[in-house]
Amino acid sequence: PTTTRTGEPAEIDPRELDPDALKVVLRLHAHGHQAYLVGGCVRDLLLKRKPKDFDVATSAHPGEVRATFRNCRLIGRRFRLAHVYFKGGKIIEVSTFRANPTELMMESPPSEEEGGENGNGNGDEDLLITHDNVFGTAEQDARRRDFTINGLFYDVTEGRVIDYVRGRRDLDEQYIRTIGDPEIRMREDPVRILRAVRFASKLGFDLESRTYAAMEGAVEDLPRCAPARLLEETFRLIRGSVAAPSLKLLSALDALKILLPPVDAYLKQNGKEGEKTFYAFAEALDRRVASGEPLDDAILLATLLVPISRAAPPPVESQEPGARPSVSQAIEDLLASFVQTARLPRRIAERCRLLLLAQRTLTGERRRRTGAFRRHPLFGEAMTVFEISVEATGEFREALEAWKGGELPPARPEGASAEGGA
Ligand code: ATP
Ligand code: MG
Repeated sequence: PTTTRTGEPAEIDPRELDPDALKVVLRLHAHGHQAYLVGGCVRDLLLKRKPKDFDVATSAHPGEVRATFRNCRLIGRRFRLAHVYFKGGKIIEVSTFRANPTELMMESPPSEEEGGENGNGNGDEDLLITHDNVFGTAEQDARRRDFTINGLFYDVTEGRVIDYVRGRRDLDEQYIRTIGDPEIRMREDPVRILRAVRFASKLGFDLESRTYAAMEGAVEDLPRCAPARLLEETFRLIRGSVAAPSLKLLSALDALKILLPPVDAYLKQNGKEGEKTFYAFAEALDRRVASGEPLDDAILLATLLVPISRAAPPPVESQEPGARPSVSQAIEDLLASFVQTARLPRRIAERCRLLLLAQRTLTGERRRRTGAFRRHPLFGEAMTVFEISVEATGEFREALEAWKGGELPPARPEGASAEGGA
């Protein structure tokens, strides 16, 4: 087995390190700067999991980082980060050691105009620019991070983990614990509630009790966070194949009323049965995502909303001819509420709406000219949502087979809601 210079067994196999991240670190060293691997990659390597990406923290200021690499761009307004580009679109993110400025993450509510459409997964542009960069030491940089398991540094030349925050202990004991006072850390950035839930669900760790208590206390502060950041962290739960356990935790924290109001309302109105149905969908979705198939955000959200849209009231008999059926209206209202409350980007909402409407044709509840329906650009995605739904409840298996075989599903009465929370 590989050993470190001091002769202890190496905790991280150097072969697991990303060669490009290694190049970045060594080049920064060659230019006289400190540089470490940090955050999620160190955590994952110690847990023998494959890191999603490798981040570097350095004593070099952003301008110095840029001067050190040709293939480098500075991004971000609130804090400047360097992206170093490699073959195949790979990016190594290099951040300068920072201290934790007070009220770092708090922001005033964004104006109407800037709220909605900019969910590009970055979220940075939505944040109020408070104090700009407050540079610091390596230790300060470890302490400004969210959880102890995310605050570990790795010194690649020494082959040594640097632990300023007792992260090793919590990795061994499997705890999610904030660095520093949990009350303060949760209040200064309530988005950390979602992050704690994600790491607990993903890694199967427990939330340390004071951390959990602080999360409960900070739920009421969630509306003060930039909606785009909340939405992004919410999607990260679903994309990370931990929607079911995460949403259960968030429901226990009573945070869904703020994050996903229609889900919250559905769960509260439909009791145990509603819960069972909803989490069956979430679990089927998690299995599908875990199987490695990349699904875009509209598909992910649409799948979670299927049980809710099915619980929508069936069309009223006395409705005037030509009036919009109330199920479609309910779907529309559902998504409109998402656009409004969660600032879901309209393009995702619109695709989501079409995917949900298509479910009614797929179940056989609504008859359509099937030729055109099958040729619709969203047909394949609508089928994916339908497949996951069938997987969740076992219903409509016949219809699914019929569509797959190029036939029409057996007819169902208009508005017959399948499980509908009952
Ligand atoms: P993943 O593997 O899911 O990407 P990660 O730990 O890399 O997990 P990121 O969101 O990519 O998580 O963030 C990288 C690192 O930045 C974290 O490990 C943490 O140290 C720090 N960090 C991110 N968001 C926050 C935050 N809101 N508050 C404090 N530190 C944060
Ligand atoms: Mg990461």
